[in-house]
Amino acid sequence: MAGIYIHIPFCKQACSYCDFYFTTHLLNKQDFLDALIKEIESRKAYLEGQPIATLYFGGGTPSQLSTKELQTVIEAVRSHYSVIENAEITVESNPDDLTEEYLQQLFNIGVNRLSIGIQSFKNEDLELMNRAHNSEEAKTCVALARKSGFKNISIDLIYGLPNATLEDWKTNIDQALQLDTEHVSAYNLTIEKGTPLAHSVTKGRVTIPSDHEIVLQHNLLVELLAEGGLEHYETSNFAKKSFRSKHNSSYWKGTHYAGVGPSAHSFNGISRSWNISNTKKYVELIEQGKSHFETETLSLIDRINEFILTGLRTAEGIDLVHFESYFGKKALSNLLLESQESLSKGLLEKKQHRLIVSVRGKVLLDGITADLFFEE
Ligand code: SF4
Repeated sequence: MAGIYIHIPFCKQACSYCDFYFTTHLLNKQDFLDALIKEIESRKAYLEGQPIATLYFGGGTPSQLSTKELQTVIEAVRSHYSVIENAEITVESNPDDLTEEYLQQLFNIGVNRLSIGIQSFKNEDLELMNRAHNSEEAKTCVALARKSGFKNISIDLIYGLPNATLEDWKTNIDQALQLDTEHVSAYNLTIEKGTPLAHSVTKGRVTIPSDHEIVLQHNLLVELLAEGGLEHYETSNFAKKSFRSKHNSSYWKGTHYAGVGPSAHSFNGISRSWNISNTKKYVELIEQGKSHFETETLSLIDRINEFILTGLRTAEGIDLVHFESYFGKKALSNLLLESQESLSKGLLEKKQHRLIVSVRGKVLLDGITADLFFEE
């Protein structure tokens, strides 16, 4: 089984913290869609005929496309790939795009999982982030989606926001829990160089929480979502039973996927490739039949480190039996040797044939992972 990721680069406006690839120029939308459909067809051989279990529209803001445009893209995938029955089809969206009519049409074209970028329920936060939606839209979009038939909804939240107290964050989590969605993704805000938000921080116009405050916010998140019945199954992801994101889980399991659209990444177990991060050039190169992506073949060390990195992010940790069968006995004993220090500090736990990050280790994940990395 494999997956397809489709990057829709359009956004209504630029969020102050964002360093993903996106564009606010919607004029060349039709040219983009024509190029995207050509790429979907041309990428067919990459997945070697594997059935498609998940289709994921990410961005940018996929809900900037009309449902007719999304339907055309889904049909293009269906006509060139063998998409399994009940495949997970996710569309990322922003609350301000989700009218009742739009949601109903989205459901009718076969989208069965909705991911909504709520980020915060507080107007001051949303304004600071320059999000296009307001608090009211954040609070009502899930009910509208339910009315249209969606039974698998995920919302995104951000913690570590400037000027936000632990009490503010608790209010956001409580409001999220009231929406009773099947899935929550929560990210710690990173201040990316060159963004308007980074500029405001440098100028002292906003204050970001200290590392200690961020740890408290993270721990509160984990505790309250667990009480709300959501399993912490990956560093940034929480789900009710049977509602883990199949598409994102496949990244962490090493499943093959083709990424189409500007800046999209693809992976086939041996190599990784990434498309050009420029919509105009992407369209031109595809129109001219020229290469629009770069590829790197993964070395053995790259694949081992990838396995460690993705394994440690999940609730199941690193499967040591699989690790040995993929990379051999010597690599396994090296990994176990390097993990001793974190095990003795209680940051890692060995449960049967798995190496798992402990609750205490979760906030130190980056350091724990780096200590286990193999070197060339
Ligand atoms: S909507 Fe998402 S991709 Fe677009 S600018 Fe905001 S954070 Fe970035």
